[in-house]
Amino acid sequence: MNKPVLIELVDLEKAYFLGAEEVPVLKKINLTIHEGEFIAIMGTSGSGKSTLMNVLGFLDRPTRGKYLLKGSDVSNLTDEDEARIRNREIGFIFQTFNLLSQYTSYENVALPLMYRDEEVDHGRVMRAVETVGLTHRIHHKPSEISGGQRQRVAIARALVTDPAILLADEPTGNLDSKTSIEIMELFLNLHKTGATIILVTHEPDIAHYSERIIHIKDGEIHEDERLVRKKRR
Ligand code: ADP
Ligand code: MG
Repeated sequence: MNKPVLIELVDLEKAYFLGAEEVPVLKKINLTIHEGEFIAIMGTSGSGKSTLMNVLGFLDRPTRGKYLLKGSDVSNLTDEDEARIRNREIGFIFQTFNLLSQYTSYENVALPLMYRDEEVDHGRVMRAVETVGLTHRIHHKPSEISGGQRQRVAIARALVTDPAILLADEPTGNLDSKTSIEIMELFLNLHKTGATIILVTHEPDIAHYSERIIHIKDGEIHEDERLVRKKRR
């Protein structure tokens, strides 16, 4: 693969502390991700998938080791730099959507831009909403739309900043299988237009939309599997 390296993890470790006792969760993870990759992370519950996603998305910090993003070391940023990089480079999508219930779809999507010290670009919000096919639901609140539509709003919110990477932690975990397929088709289209996507799933059918499956076991990379095109759906 000759695309530029986007992310490099070097001996990355994450541990939690129970009193004085250190409980390792991620153990010396070494991982290189190139621009434009579509990756699924699989592993049993408790294997460290969410912890890895949270470190990648600057929601949590590594205990040891290096995280390089576009070549610069981002393992130990100030809170301010961390928040700025999270806002500029990361689009995070959660299993439970995490929308603000009092806001409309439009307002939820505009939120990452509202955190910036600049005027919200209306065209940008509308383009993100259009990408997920929800132009007809911009004034609805989360309680007035379906689960699949809520996840589309959340994906638009992740896309609106044009981030370097989309991180999705079990994005179809709360959706029925038909809606899950629709959401995965959307990720597939985003991938085709150049997005770098990492998603966590424990469903093989979902993982097979990707082109590389990283299997995590007890906080370690157990297998790094490249899928050949004919296996893809
Ligand atoms: P997965 O997403 O693969 O189910 P997680 O990354 O959520 O796994 O959790 C991995 C391990 O880390 C689990 O054993 C979990 O109990 C532990 N863990 C996660 N968050 C914390 C925390 N804040 N404090 C202590 N232990 C945690
Ligand atoms: Mg998890």
